[in-house]
Amino acid sequence: MNAIDATNVSKHYGSTTALDRVDLTVEEGETFGFLGPNGAGKSTFINILLDFAKPSDGQVEIFGTDCQRDGVDARERVGVLPEGYSVIERLTGRQHIEYAIRSKDAHDTNPLDILDRVGIRDAAGRKASGYSKGMAQRLVLGMALVGEPDLLLLDEPSTGLDPNGAAEMRRILREENERGATIFFSSHILEQVEAVCDRVGILQNGELVAVDTIEGLRESM
Ligand code: ADP
Ligand code: ADP
Repeated sequence: MNAIDATNVSKHYGSTTALDRVDLTVEEGETFGFLGPNGAGKSTFINILLDFAKPSDGQVEIFGTDCQRDGVDARERVGVLPEGYSVIERLTGRQHIEYAIRSKDAHDTNPLDILDRVGIRDAAGRKASGYSKGMAQRLVLGMALVGEPDLLLLDEPSTGLDPNGAAEMRRILREENERGATIFFSSHILEQVEAVCDRVGILQNGELVAVDTIEGLRESM
């Protein structure tokens, strides 16, 4: 079964074409990089997967479930790291994870195990106001991991991180992929996707202009 199946997906905002007849398949277990400059349509595509935006045309499925017709069911299998996420400064790392456990009814989850997976277990009892940018980003990723999603959608997860923070994020994503999660990772920086992703799609002005392995793309450049 495919993790993502997009068929002929277009999205228009007035006279702006944010997505132009995108066909894309991401197989279960893949790490897929969705690469494109700002304004290319990456967030629009992710919003359609999450049923936060309706396509003007076409269809998107997650694990065979139609995202628009059965959006809630599709979202159950997805963990999201949204762009421009935020943490709640007065809550500790552990309290953030506990909040995610309650809201997803995932009561058999141990918050410390999740914090361990994202490398901030030692900071479990500290308020998020004292976290670095990289720690805060990993905390939000930890919230996304609650419930063991089969698909992780990450919108520009490395933006604003220093090189160490970005490397740590990549390490965690590779580990989550080894645990079985399919990874869909959007970025405007090739170097950030190539260290994690098996395949890359390049989006330009809403059009998917290439889909290939990193090696294949390098050869054609
Ligand atoms: P990216 O995530 O690659 O930066 P976006 O999906 O955010 O690109 O945007 C694609 C295009 O669609 C841009 O021209 C953007 O201004 C436009 N757009 C996105 N969302 C909206 C919206 N809600 N209303 C109007 N235009 C939008
Ligand atoms: P990015 O380019 O990284 O996607 P944006 O700032 O373009 O970030 O988009 C952030 C949010 O604002 C998205 O949810 C997008 O749909 C919305 N958005 C983007 N462009 C427009 C626009 N021209 N009008 C209204 N909403 C927009």
